[in-house]
Amino acid sequence: MHQSRESRILLDSMTTHLQKLGGVFSVLLVLGCGGDGSTNGTDVAAHDTIDAGPDTSTVACPTVDSVDLGLKTVDLATGLSAPFTVEIPADALSILVVVTGASDTLYTLTEVTAPDDTVVVKSGWFEDGNSVVCLSCPNRVAAFYGTHAALIPNAPNVELVPGTWTMQVGAFQSAGFIPSPDGPHVMVHIKRGAVLPSTGTLPIRAYYSVDGALGRDDGEDRLALMQSRLQQIYEPAGINVLSETLAVDELPPDGAPHTIPGVATALDLDPTTMNVLIFDALNNGGGPAAGFSPVAGGTSPHGGSVVAAQSSVPGFQGTVDALGDVVAHEVGHYLGLWHTREAGSLGIVDPLPDTEDSSSDNLMTADLKGTVLTPMQGQVLRRHPLVTHVCTP
Ligand SMILES: [Zn+2]
Repeated sequence: MHQSRESRILLDSMTTHLQKLGGVFSVLLVLGCGGDGSTNGTDVAAHDTIDAGPDTSTVACPTVDSVDLGLKTVDLATGLSAPFTVEIPADALSILVVVTGASDTLYTLTEVTAPDDTVVVKSGWFEDGNSVVCLSCPNRVAAFYGTHAALIPNAPNVELVPGTWTMQVGAFQSAGFIPSPDGPHVMVHIKRGAVLPSTGTLPIRAYYSVDGALGRDDGEDRLALMQSRLQQIYEPAGINVLSETLAVDELPPDGAPHTIPGVATALDLDPTTMNVLIFDALNNGGGPAAGFSPVAGGTSPHGGSVVAAQSSVPGFQGTVDALGDVVAHEVGHYLGLWHTREAGSLGIVDPLPDTEDSSSDNLMTADLKGTVLTPMQGQVLRRHPLVTHVCTP
């Protein structure tokens, strides 16, 4: 059983890029998403010491302000934009910075500094050229092709201080962060409210091919099961998943990171919904993948930022249909969650103290061994602007 779960390798889209970049983080995620069995074994006690906060579901109604910061030109010698600023109001609960550009260009925030001069994303973090994730940044960020998004805060020690924030973005060719001339467009989505509600609603739209596996046989039952699994898994985190499924002609049978932006653009995606594309086969560039997602994902109508999943998961069919669990894991990435612990020997864990680095039952384990979400993970999820909140008059 354990072996069959491990063979069900989950590879995030980062892996493709990491293999090109080499270095420490390449090892991290290539091993990390597959799992090596080292985290199997002892389970960990309940997370009962973390205060989930009061039930605020009836007192707050956060809204989202979207600020268009326009097109940023980048220095041809460095790939970096000039520093730019964004005003963060006192009632900001989170910000999602979405950087969108050419699909063959690697984008990331290269610096974020709070009004009190606290460094949130470290200047020049990418300069060693061997990591597409800033593990040492107080607010962890990752570089992605086409669309980069950063959810701030995504860790309990990062404070959204009101005032003038300073940021910088970088545009790079794939390997070694060689500067690219393709400057990106920058949007900042600010979720505002008195408090972060303990509940929220996440709209999900899952697309599948009318000619594919889900378009025939028991496809309807499998999609219904996927939808109910999503609801079950996210309900304890206070998130009501409202999902719909759409059979389309535009989805090819196979998906891969470099083809997905084009497919997604053809589908004219709704940027206010979590868009999930389900293919019959998914390849991350280095091999089959059950699913992948950026961390975090950004709302974008341009198709550079979606959750992708494979309709049938190798080695895990029969008694259990894993599609809903795979999509739930990728949705967690999209909303800002990292693996609780990357597989391998480097001991890299997520920035949330309550996920217990040896926990084996969490939704965000690298090899998808569980479905549990901790209170702090719930807070990160509900900060994402795609999760909306209902007011009580
Ligand atoms: Zn993952």
